[in-house]
Amino acid sequence: MEKQQLARWWKKENDGIRCHLCPWECFIKENEAGICKVRKNISNNLYSLVYGKPVAMNIDPIEKKPLYHFLPGTSSFSIGTFGCNMQCKFCQNWDISQRDMENLEFKIDYYSPTEIIDLVIKNNCRSIAFTYNEPTIFGEYVIDIAKLAKKNNIATIMVTNGYILPEARSEIYKYIDAANVDIKGFTEKFYKSFTGGSLKNVLDTIVYLKSKNIHIEVTTLLINGKNDDENDLRKEFSWINNKLGSDIPLHLSAFHPDYKMKDQKITTLPSMQNSYRIAKESGLKFVYLGNVIGVDNNTYCSNCGKVIINRSGYSTKIKQINKCKCGEKIPIIF
Ligand code: SF4
Repeated sequence: MEKQQLARWWKKENDGIRCHLCPWECFIKENEAGICKVRKNISNNLYSLVYGKPVAMNIDPIEKKPLYHFLPGTSSFSIGTFGCNMQCKFCQNWDISQRDMENLEFKIDYYSPTEIIDLVIKNNCRSIAFTYNEPTIFGEYVIDIAKLAKKNNIATIMVTNGYILPEARSEIYKYIDAANVDIKGFTEKFYKSFTGGSLKNVLDTIVYLKSKNIHIEVTTLLINGKNDDENDLRKEFSWINNKLGSDIPLHLSAFHPDYKMKDQKITTLPSMQNSYRIAKESGLKFVYLGNVIGVDNNTYCSNCGKVIINRSGYSTKIKQINKCKCGEKIPIIF
């Protein structure tokens, strides 16, 4: 049954509430919501306005998250709500991420965690992905669904900006198997000017996930002249290699004009290929290009070069499992 859901991770403070879910640590007065627009102070208690209120639910190829090295070729039941704790000027899902819950002209149907898991099972999905908007801001719903998923042998995935505080992070990711984390740029200046978040918190989250053996893939949306400076890219790719290892899949995705950057040109294929080259020179073994057509996104054995997974768009043909014919271990969870 639908009920107003008390939020977690907050404390009363003077004449309001301090939310401790993400690094904004919003101070929220009565009848106001935090920066994410979905956590509201009602009678001096903090409530989640999006618990049980998914506004996007789809059965997606897991490759669309994107995750290429986790359960390849399977379907992932994908859900998202309104709200986000960043305000990226280039957001490609801004119609849901930046939506104000208070002024909706329609009602959102309530789905309990049990109803969501029933749908995952009914649709033969091996995983559930919390995606489309930033799942951190509906962390309470993530936890309740993910706990049930674990009981039903369903894998759990966060597609996230990584902007979260340590206490909430450890409580949410206790139930998570895999994550695709955005590194939106490799300077604090870029994060400050274009996202409202901070690079340091994101990198801390990625290192934390690695320490918990959660499967990680990283995505960077490349925007010409904004976050694709060669020196910055080299720093980012070296950081990934040093902190996470050369087996971590990196997805370089092309920007398309959107939200507050409609005048910015689409990222060109030659510049994507140049960034790909830099990533490979930095020692990363598995680099993929997204939002572009006509590129080779197969997975090859890093030892002998044989095809391990053949990809065409979101269609996937698995050629080898666990070990290549040459004996090289394949770092993919099948
Ligand atoms: S989760 Fe929302 S309300 Fe809480 S600190 Fe972050 S932006 Fe503010």
